[in-house]
Amino acid sequence: MELLRHGLKHHNVKYLTWIVLLLIIGGSTNGMMSQTAPTSTLTFSSGTAKNVVLLIGDGMGLAQISTFYTDKKQWSGFDEFPVLGFQKTYSSNNLVTDSAAGATAMACGKKTYNNAIGLDSTGTPCITILEEAEKKGKSTGLIVTSSIVHATPAAFLAHCSSRNQYEDIAGDFMKTDVDLLIGGGMQYFDRRKMDNHDLIDTLKERDYAVFDFRNQNLQKVVPSPKKNFVFFTADNQPLPASQDRTYLPYAAKMGVNFLKQRSEKGFFLMIEGSQIDWACHANRANLLAGEMQDFDSAIRQVLEFAKRDGETLVIVTADHETGGLGLIHGNNKNQVEYAFTSNGHTAAMVPVFAYGPGAELFSGIYDNTAIYQKMRQALGFN
Ligand SMILES: [Zn+2]
Repeated sequence: MELLRHGLKHHNVKYLTWIVLLLIIGGSTNGMMSQTAPTSTLTFSSGTAKNVVLLIGDGMGLAQISTFYTDKKQWSGFDEFPVLGFQKTYSSNNLVTDSAAGATAMACGKKTYNNAIGLDSTGTPCITILEEAEKKGKSTGLIVTSSIVHATPAAFLAHCSSRNQYEDIAGDFMKTDVDLLIGGGMQYFDRRKMDNHDLIDTLKERDYAVFDFRNQNLQKVVPSPKKNFVFFTADNQPLPASQDRTYLPYAAKMGVNFLKQRSEKGFFLMIEGSQIDWACHANRANLLAGEMQDFDSAIRQVLEFAKRDGETLVIVTADHETGGLGLIHGNNKNQVEYAFTSNGHTAAMVPVFAYGPGAELFSGIYDNTAIYQKMRQALGFN
């Protein structure tokens, strides 16, 4: 204002116009910043997020998310995110990634070859963001609707040349003091073919509270924040959401609250909607709808926590798109047809949604490896 008054007195109209224009541009830039940044963190500063929740919809591209608007005509948790970006999902040896290389890129910041778990493209193990968070005293967890040793969760906690070595992967899980594991795959821990080790005994010896689907309902178990907690939801793969698998949203809510209590230094949690991918591999639109609803409910639970908490960065993304899904032949009854062009993965970029401290880092187009870098930056890891 001082500048403007000064200008009125001493400068010609042309100069004045420039000052006014600059003030308008400055004002509108600030306006854009406050629209894209969800919290009080308006600058691109690092080290502001105490907690990170990374939600991965396996195989979830833009068309899969768009099914909310074409089918249900309803709002979803996705609508709440103020910052959006896109990630390029290619692996080190293929434009079309698999889940192992896609998850490794996000967990370790390294492009690797399809099939590799927690290794770089030369086969060297890479430290994952979960392992680093654990070393820094944060609590850590994985919650999935596949087996817990499946490619996506495995890449955050194991280092293995092949994603199918489930028993090796389960063995690697013993090397990190992870606080929370919820998912299927119990048989790879207590009925191992490669050795006689009962890894559930190993977990209990290390003072973990271990429960499973055979004699407990996850929603009735109240985990003590004094102990690490494991719940096996199936011997191998859990059921699809359409067959009454309902634990993910509950586990998401319980998980963030549990991990917050486990450490004063914050937490890292990865939650996967694992079976979005399987529905699209099978080209089954009805299965996809169930998995998307389930994953969306988990997102809402995490957002509710993050809004209250104020120190939690929430990221929702995918490892790749599956099925080459198209939403076509729209009509005046607001209906579309689902057209899958593949029963495999595709090379399409996938969206990234971010909320909370550090969210602004996730705007733009970048490689999947940048997800790792941006999470570290938001957490203040150097
Ligand atoms: Zn995948």
